[in-house]
Amino acid sequence: VSAVAWAIGVDVGGTKVVAGLVDEHGGLVATRRDEHARPGDYAAVLDRIAEFADALSAEAAAHGRVVDGIGIAIAAFLTADRDRIREAVNLGWPETALADDLAARLRRPVLIENDADAAAWGEWRFGAGRGARTMVMVTLGTGVGGGLVSDGRLYSGATGLALEIGHLQVVPSGLPCPCGARGCLEQYASGTALGRIATGDGGAPPLTGALVAQAAAAGDATALAACAEVGRWLGLGLAQVAAVVDPSVIVVGGGAGTAHPVLLEAAREAFAAHVGVPRVRPEVELRPAVLGNAAGLVGVADRVRQQEDQVREREADRRQANRVEPI
Ligand SMILES: [Zn+2]
Repeated sequence: VSAVAWAIGVDVGGTKVVAGLVDEHGGLVATRRDEHARPGDYAAVLDRIAEFADALSAEAAAHGRVVDGIGIAIAAFLTADRDRIREAVNLGWPETALADDLAARLRRPVLIENDADAAAWGEWRFGAGRGARTMVMVTLGTGVGGGLVSDGRLYSGATGLALEIGHLQVVPSGLPCPCGARGCLEQYASGTALGRIATGDGGAPPLTGALVAQAAAAGDATALAACAEVGRWLGLGLAQVAAVVDPSVIVVGGGAGTAHPVLLEAAREAFAAHVGVPRVRPEVELRPAVLGNAAGLVGVADRVRQQEDQVREREADRRQANRVEPI
């Protein structure tokens, strides 16, 4: 009996490419990272991914394992079939066939997934949402991403754009959003919003969310108030999500989402104050994510392993069906 295969997950973000060799339990065996990638340069990103994939495959071989395939978690709008990138605003890529381009180059199966969906899958399989029947995950970073796992399936919608929680309109005619709409949740409840709120209206250049998180950890009153305000907006948005999706658990992740416990506490209070059908609805638990920055690459690597398992099962079934019985 051969050993269980591992998989490689890669997280492609605004300024970084991080790859991990992931075992069958969602554990990170080894990582490679480039924090200064030039994401706008498509060919350079392909080069970097190929280089990391080779290094991590060699690492797997040293452990006596084979690699099932490669999964890419990426901050982009994808097609429903997850075969093409429709638009990657932060990366400056037009429509690209990333999965095909990489598969041809690496001669292995390549799967792409939206980074927030991949993170949701990771937290559901191995993290804060493990075993939940219906789990929503919301990720607060530069923007806001969302994912839904229900009855063991990741839900992507008819056109691949489901659970874009960041673009839920919470303020009619509110702040303009790069997506083209106004008053989107991510203008009020994201790392960017955290920085803007803490900076105030004095005309100073906005602080980063990370800096505000640091100040909050040190007990700075302005930073803590900003965390609470972002939390209240988040709770309001999640109450709308709950009215549609009826989740049992909501996992809150991302650098800003886990910036300070005050944020989640404020989100819980606002959620309870705004959620519909409160008399009948069982309590929805808002939990902090536990996989941190690795959630996306761990999640997408697991999806690769799962897909290759299905391929193997279908092949086994076919062999069984084709077997000629002796007369
Ligand atoms: Zn928007």
